[in-house]
Amino acid sequence: MQANRLTISEIQAGLKGKTLTCESLARQYLDAIQKHNPDINAFLSIDPDQVILDAKASDQRLNSGGAMRELEGVFAGIKDNIHVHGMTTTCASKILKGFSPVYEATVVKRLREAGAIIMGKLNCDEFAMGSSNENSAYGPVKNPLNRNLVPGGSSGGSAAAVAAGFCTVALGSDTGGSIRQPASFCSVVGLKPTYGTVSRRGLVAFASSFDQIGPLALCVEDAMLVHQVISGKDNQDATSLTHTPKWTPLKKDTGSLADLVVGVPEEFMGEGIDKEVSEAMDQTIQNLKKMGARVVSVSLKLVNRCLPVYYILSSAEASSNLARYDSVRYGPRLHEGGNLDDLYLKNRSLGFGAEVKRRIILGTYVLSEGYYDAFYLKAQKMRTLIRQDFDHAFTQCDVLLTPTSPFPPFSLGAKTEDPMAMYLADICTVPVSIAGLPAISIPVPRTTNQLPVGIQLITPALKEDQLFTYAQAMEVMLKGNHL
Ligand code: GLN
Repeated sequence: MQANRLTISEIQAGLKGKTLTCESLARQYLDAIQKHNPDINAFLSIDPDQVILDAKASDQRLNSGGAMRELEGVFAGIKDNIHVHGMTTTCASKILKGFSPVYEATVVKRLREAGAIIMGKLNCDEFAMGSSNENSAYGPVKNPLNRNLVPGGSSGGSAAAVAAGFCTVALGSDTGGSIRQPASFCSVVGLKPTYGTVSRRGLVAFASSFDQIGPLALCVEDAMLVHQVISGKDNQDATSLTHTPKWTPLKKDTGSLADLVVGVPEEFMGEGIDKEVSEAMDQTIQNLKKMGARVVSVSLKLVNRCLPVYYILSSAEASSNLARYDSVRYGPRLHEGGNLDDLYLKNRSLGFGAEVKRRIILGTYVLSEGYYDAFYLKAQKMRTLIRQDFDHAFTQCDVLLTPTSPFPPFSLGAKTEDPMAMYLADICTVPVSIAGLPAISIPVPRTTNQLPVGIQLITPALKEDQLFTYAQAMEVMLKGNHL
């Protein structure tokens, strides 16, 4: 196996057994990036010399008897809406071209303290708004599994980088599905943690009551290891919780899922779900039953309200969060001259792409006097009811199983002209974001010529430990069961 396809435990076994050095690993990732990134376009910025220096420093530490830290030998790519010291944060927007943050995100600091090496910044949809990574001002990302297809979005660069062997793990951000959906399109694992478990300090805000940072990785264990490092209280984020996840295996023998009750929301099994995705779901359910799990049908009856609720609330928050980009305080001045109003108007018109403008207009509209009660307030009330829908479903099961996306990855350009068709990509992921719950997408292995499909597991809030256990058991099961 090529070293740039190794999981964290394999890397650390190699470092311990002296069959691998951080420097040799760094060179393999950098080679893969040099060869394939010009076409795949996952990394927007990278400093290869710094990566080699950091790798040599890790080797030196280990050679002089330093202990193996949790993420020793792990090379992490960071979505370009999360601040990294010494690198630009563009949010894949022209309005932030060349912007250098003055501090580093808490999650990045924690990765470094645990021994990880930061590879560089990853492409995404502009300000994390999109489902195909085609809204980047720096060009689309291609799916490494089939370069005619989109990698999903908005963390398309993060998913593609892991799938292409450019880094061991990546951080993405998930507001309505942006970690899970690209993970499913690129056949990797993606976790959206419970809202509040991971610090948002240093994450550029899109919709603050939804945004969470989480890992994309080659396997469930790697996602869990990264999550353990980045989560936990941060005094610089008032919404961060003290909770730290623990790893508690469900059963010693992961071949059995006896006693587990899996709920399948009936709303995700019928109309609107592609045949390939339904087949993958059916196969997964059969396998779960074989492993002793009880599979029950449950209902999330408000699912068909989730897209409007999400797009009203997230756009309202975005319109307020993005008001700060006026080309005075951050980013380049794209237009000079005229009075102050002209300066704001012209710079914002030139700096933002079409999708971001659409969200700002929508968000401003739903917050405006006369429409606030009809849209924003109503959507907030619906948010409570949707949460209650999940609470009710969890009285009948331990974990929910749904597809991650209603369809497999589509061709580049197929949905760019139709925003509503693009928004439908989020139908399975936004309900979870509205309720603030944790969810993980794991790939369903397919024969090589078939399109990637991911399944999503959801647990009640703060039950990441159980989520990981179920997901790992299913990963073991799925590995032996190609469709
Ligand atoms: N695709 C969704 C949107 O465009 C989700 C984005 C996200 O999670 N950042 O809003």
